[in-house]
Order: sequence, then structure tokens, then C-alpha cells
Amino acid sequence: MRFELKGKLAFSSELSGLTGEISSIIKGAEPVLSRGAPKGKETEAARVVGWHVAGSELELEIESGRYVRAHDALLRIAKVLATELGKKHKMGLRGITASDYRIVLPIAEAPAEAVAELKKLPYEVTVGESSVEIHLTGLSEADLRGRLVDRLVSMVEEAVSRTSVSAAEPKVIREGPKRSHAFRENPFDVARKLGWIRDFPGRGQWIYEGPYAKLFRAIEDIIIEEVARPLNFEEVMFPKLIPLEVMQRMPGYLDGVPEGMYYVAPPPRDPEAFKDFKQKIKLTKRIPVEELKKILKEPAYVLAPAQCEPFYESFASSHVRLEDLPVKQFDRSGWTYRWEGGGVEGLIRTQEFQRIELVFLGSPEDVVSIRDAVVDRSTKVVDLLEMEWRLLVATPFYMREGVVGDGSDSSKVATYDIEVLLPYDGSWLEIGSYNVHKTKFVETFKIKEVKGRQVWTGCCGFGMSRWVVAFLAQHGFEPARWPEPVRKRVGKLPPVPKVVE
Ligand SMILES: [Zn+2]
Repeated sequence: MRFELKGKLAFSSELSGLTGEISSIIKGAEPVLSRGAPKGKETEAARVVGWHVAGSELELEIESGRYVRAHDALLRIAKVLATELGKKHKMGLRGITASDYRIVLPIAEAPAEAVAELKKLPYEVTVGESSVEIHLTGLSEADLRGRLVDRLVSMVEEAVSRTSVSAAEPKVIREGPKRSHAFRENPFDVARKLGWIRDFPGRGQWIYEGPYAKLFRAIEDIIIEEVARPLNFEEVMFPKLIPLEVMQRMPGYLDGVPEGMYYVAPPPRDPEAFKDFKQKIKLTKRIPVEELKKILKEPAYVLAPAQCEPFYESFASSHVRLEDLPVKQFDRSGWTYRWEGGGVEGLIRTQEFQRIELVFLGSPEDVVSIRDAVVDRSTKVVDLLEMEWRLLVATPFYMREGVVGDGSDSSKVATYDIEVLLPYDGSWLEIGSYNVHKTKFVETFKIKEVKGRQVWTGCCGFGMSRWVVAFLAQHGFEPARWPEPVRKRVGKLPPVPKVVE
């Protein structure tokens, strides 16, 4: 691994008379540049290979191997120079930049997918036969201090080391009994015709009327009574408006699918700011969107896409004690959102949907066994609802490097998905996802155990909107034909409001 950096230190005054002094400071700083490199690896530490003074700026060329990377060396030498020159000449360091940075990583062989992935990085990356070269220009002090380069290097290393196992297809490991399906229509069309759902101007959003709501609550209650309660999950209520800094800690969201979220930009709480806007809307009867854009502040939140964000946040940067764990909670307090753009589809892919989200924190053994118990009980609920289902092992998007395995060792399975049959077109619909995150979220939310023992998190999402549509797809719209536990709970269906066209 080789790092070659051209850096620049800007000082508050002229340096030209001080070259002798600078030379001896740089010479004296040699030990500082190899501090921390393992024994025997000192040659892989950093050294200054050239420098020259131009006015009040000092340009430095630094090379290094893997240990004490050139950008860290630049920061170290900047500190030494600032201290020495500050003491003797009362001058200050005004800024650190790097105009040019070349990083060469040796690699064995890059799989085609890795090369494709590296090509997508917003930097100049060249993949050769035995090495990857990253070329960066115009790095600011914030880039250098913010570990941008180290993250980029690990990203490249990760991409080339990833084996094709990670791309493994989801695999069916269990199935429920086959069932006959008398009803073969698309429930979306029927629900609209019967007025159970009504159109709403927002794409991928619907108004769900009385009969739908009753069926929804019946199925929701069954899941809570058959899964959440017996496993001692406590109901909580999580916020659905998530500050960006919380979202940033969720692996795979802002850094993985930022295109899949709704962003919320609050206005200034100032009626004056809206004076023109209000006038225009009154006079033109149109919404002055351009005006609105100018008034709103920067986006500061997303509408919850995952529903479990507040759970990890509630332990963020704190210590827990293994003896007090596991914590098991569930939330069913409202809508969550994903921006699907043009990908919306009837009732099965909507922008706004409901889930029961079960979340837990505990020892690795506890987290795996809680997840597995939730999966077991969930398949029993699908049987109780007389739906045809199958269970799959999958790798969630935030754990692309995760081991899928054959499902025989549950602790190695990151995600189980439950899918149910849609008889009208023979496809399978995912209605639940059951995840073990290992230390992934514990790390990003900085959750610590008092004695340093390992804690894991997990979450299980029951896609309620999908449970309902799948139930209707398999059983139709006549309560008399529904399985008894649902029929009993729903009772008489309420009427829907009549609109004359
Ligand atoms: Zn979750």
C-alpha cells in the first residue's frame, strides 16, 4: 500500500527567511512520523520526501505505506511546525490542504462486480491487474481530519475482498401447507370497486375506509396477541420524524439508499417570512412553490423509513449492563415512509405504510433466540390465518458482506423473510423481515456494555399493509369465507361512504 501526498500549510506570515529553521524542524519530526507503526514495519511509516516555501505557504511532499498514512503524517507535522514557529515567531497556522493525493492498493484480483462498484465512487479510481489506484485532488482540512481517505480505502478494500457469496439469492428453507384458492382477483381492484380504499392525490397513498381498517386492526391484534405479548415485548411509541443526525447512524440508509426517503425542511417560525407567499396564493390561487423553496430552511429530518431508528437512539452513547438485558419493545404507532418514485404498485408497494416493528437488544445468544422465536410464532400466525407461505434466508441491504449460509445455523443468518402467495398472479409477497444486526447498529449508535461484553440488536418488521392485502388476495372480500379468528374479531363490517359521480 502506498500513499503519495502533496500538501500545503498556510501560515499567517512570510516564511522565506526561515528555511533553515524549517529544515531542522522537519528533520527533528522524523520520529513523530513513525510513531505508532508496529515493530519491524517502520519502513511503512511516513516520511517527508520534499518541501519548499512559497511566500507564507509551505508545500510538503509526503510518502507512506500502510502505517501512519501520509495524510495523518501531514496533520502531525503541521502540529509540530505550528507549535515551533508559533513559539519563536508568533505566527499561526491558517489552513491545511492537499492538492494531490495518490493511493495505490495492491489487490489479488477484483471480481467484475467490485470493479463496477468502484467505478461508481465519486472519485477517480483506476482498477489495474494487481492494484487499485485512487486519485484525489483538492482535499480540504475537514476532508483530511474527517477520515475521508481512510473510509475510502476501507470501502475499496471491502469491495475487492467481497466474495460472490454475498450476492447469493434468497433461499427457501421452510414452507407452509399448500392451499386451494377460490378467489383469484387482484384485491387492489376489488377494494377500489367496493370502496374499501379510495383514491388520494398523493401517489402511492390511499384512504383506507371502515371495512379495511377493521380487518387491519383484527390482523394486527392477532399478531400482537400471538407474537409480541407471549414473548414479553412491551409496547412503546416511537417518533416518526427522524433528525438527519439520527438517521446518519442507521447503516445503509443515508449512505445506502438516500434516494428512498422523504426529507423534511421546516420553515422559519416567522409570519413575516411568509408575507409574499400568502399574498401570492390569495391573488393567483396557485401554490407559489418557487417562493416556498426560498423560504424553507434546509432539510433537517426524514420521515421514518425504518421505524426502529428511535430504539437504538434511546441507548446511543450510553452504557448498558448485560444483566439488565434483553430489552424487548414493539411499536405500532403509525405510518412510516419510503419514497418509491415511479415504483409504486397498488396496495403492495406504497409510499406510506404501517408496520408492527419489534426491536430488541441483548447478548448475541439472546438476540438470535428472540429473533428465531418471533419467526416461529409468525409462521404459526400465517397458518392461523390459513395463508400459503414460505420462509427464506436473505441478506439485508445494510449487510452486503453478511454470510447467508444454508440456514442450518441460525446465528449466521442475518435475515429471514416470510413471503405469502398472491393467487391472482402466482407471485410471492414479502410480509415480514426478521433481522439480527450483530454489532452493526451497536457500533454506529455507540452503545457500550459496562464490562465490554458483546451486545447485539435485532428487529422484526411485520408489514401490516401487506399482511392485509395478502389476506384479501388469498381469502377474498366476503367475511363469511374468512378464517374464524379473523371473522370473529371483525364482526359486522361498517358501510363505506357513498359518493355520487
Ligand atoms: Zn428495523
